[in-house]
Amino acid sequence: MKQLDYDVIVIGGGHAGCEAAHAAARMGVSTALITMRRTDLGVMSCNPAIGGLGKGHLVREIDALDGVMGRVADYAGIQFRLLNRRKGPAVQGPRAQADRSRYAAEMRRLTDAEKNLDVVEAEVIDFSMCEDRVTGVVLKDGSTIFARSVVLTTGTFLRGTIHIGSVQRPGGRMGDTESSQLAKRMDGMGFKFGRLKTGTPPRLHKASINWDILEKQHGDEDPSLFSFMSTSIEAKQVSCGITYTNSKTHGIIEKNLERSAMYGGYIDGIGPRYCPSIEDKVVRFADKSEHQVFLEPEGLDVDTIYPNGISTSLPEDVQDEYVRTIVGLENAKILQPGYAIEYDYVDPRTLKQTLECKSVDGLFLAGQINGTTGYEEAAAQGLVCGINAALAVCGRNPVIFSRTNSYIGVMIDDLTSRGVTEPYRMFTSRAEFRLTLRADNADQRLTGLGLELGCVGSDRQQAFAAKLEQLEEARKITRETEFSPTELKKAGLKVSLDGQRRTIEQVLAFPNMTVEDVISVEPRLNEIEPSIRKQVENDARYVNYLERQSRDIEMLKKDEQLLIPEDFSFDDVNGLSNELKAKFSAARPETIAKAANVDGATPASLTIIISKIRQLQRSRA
Ligand code: FAD
Repeated sequence: MKQLDYDVIVIGGGHAGCEAAHAAARMGVSTALITMRRTDLGVMSCNPAIGGLGKGHLVREIDALDGVMGRVADYAGIQFRLLNRRKGPAVQGPRAQADRSRYAAEMRRLTDAEKNLDVVEAEVIDFSMCEDRVTGVVLKDGSTIFARSVVLTTGTFLRGTIHIGSVQRPGGRMGDTESSQLAKRMDGMGFKFGRLKTGTPPRLHKASINWDILEKQHGDEDPSLFSFMSTSIEAKQVSCGITYTNSKTHGIIEKNLERSAMYGGYIDGIGPRYCPSIEDKVVRFADKSEHQVFLEPEGLDVDTIYPNGISTSLPEDVQDEYVRTIVGLENAKILQPGYAIEYDYVDPRTLKQTLECKSVDGLFLAGQINGTTGYEEAAAQGLVCGINAALAVCGRNPVIFSRTNSYIGVMIDDLTSRGVTEPYRMFTSRAEFRLTLRADNADQRLTGLGLELGCVGSDRQQAFAAKLEQLEEARKITRETEFSPTELKKAGLKVSLDGQRRTIEQVLAFPNMTVEDVISVEPRLNEIEPSIRKQVENDARYVNYLERQSRDIEMLKKDEQLLIPEDFSFDDVNGLSNELKAKFSAARPETIAKAANVDGATPASLTIIISKIRQLQRSRA
């Protein structure tokens, strides 16, 4: 150990911890990352993938603030896919399957290279306190390390219990001990704990799968990378297999339901409804005759396959039996059984928007401990904690991310104001300003802020400045000249002959119009770099919607006191997701203002409810 006194201590080397430690170190303060094992850094406890819908936005935002997750994922990515490619950029989500060991190795390399950051291998069992302020941490060997700010990111480890069928054992995740001493200490400090659970599928031996008969899914030909600084993919690309469960699989699961940890009554914690176990799928979607299973390689040089879609807490013999009913998996060998994990989380409503505890000065909480699930959600919170912990040390004002500038802000506002009723996961539908909060413009939204805060390095600063200059030049071209409908029509564009002259930006706002379509009208665009042209196209596409978005928000404010009739059926509201129907039905809010506080409620969902109430009022009048 190099020193016993740091500016910032981060407890836990998972996704939240790594991002927090890097952010604090980038801000120039001395930082220690204390974790149970040095090999914890960048470990993916569950699926070997980063990004996805909503989650990909978070990774881009982390990257815009010079965080590490995007760069590491680009280095480790073995299959890149832009989800929702056919839909608009606002709901597209970059995703990459990652080679687990490459991911962890790169995270370790970047961590070792960070000059203000030391990694300490130890278990933290207590906090050192001075009245209501944390002043450091106590390790299992009895030693104390002091700090001015502490970030706690213990993931699923606080009183973690692993469940496989009726068998339970303490554990933070498979192969790791849980953290119970620290949890006990936190009981004494008055923390408000709840219990959640999540699960993971069995891992399969690659050579035991009959790949020849399976459908394949390949990556994109023009991969969308996470980092604004990455220029090309680094690793060899692979495809995954696709297969399906069937009636035989479902029969075995149904017959053994009572032997699963969940249905046998061994688990109290609430799991993520949108990421159900195979037992849940069979029970909740009984009318479905099959469920898709993606067979994802866990890396380039490993023999392990992650069967995405069949997480389970059934006993090992049942896992073995049902897996072998699936086409292509008839002879599959299970290398590690699936399991569920139950753990303590802290009610995030006890945190400020900086993620500092309201009751303990200087103590910040990030990641799964705050009731979220997922690497990206954890990393984004870690970043916020690392920055704020460093700002506090430097005596500077904290930074609060808002719902209008980032998905990070949406998540933190949701967590701290509404709390969680199940593991919280990011979706694009949670963001009311999703037309502006796009993955493609995260740098334009946040890198400037990062520069002010001091968490963005000089390489990115230069690249960003150059990009802004190019964007400025391109926008000037698309805004300065107006063209008549006849001129546009001559160039082959479908515009009505309404006599209205339009700029290229206005033309690009028409549905399905691309920069390539307008280049013959404005050949100067040929001189602009393709990625910059694409950005200008994306920005122009939403110009008209943004105005409508602001009007909707204003309208919503007016209807806040509208009463929701007692006999109002949320199930009958078209356009609401099943998840939201269930949440509104359970909460039974009396007014629109109260409905807005239901976990997952968005302005779009409230607008639909308002219009249904108005419709009922009219029909009853
Ligand atoms: P973690 O990555 O869990 O890291 C916690 C770190 O804290 C570890 O490095 C640990 O060693 C360290 N630590 C704990 N206690 C101490 C202590 N006292 N002293 C020092 N160090 C300590 N996410 C999904 O999105 N979808 C899923 O389907 C999904 N399934 C999952 C299934 C399982 C079985 C598990 C275990 C996790 C699953 N996850 C899933 C969650 C995902 O792994 C987490 O969301 C993510 O890893 C959380 O990151 P974190 O940094 O908060 O915690």
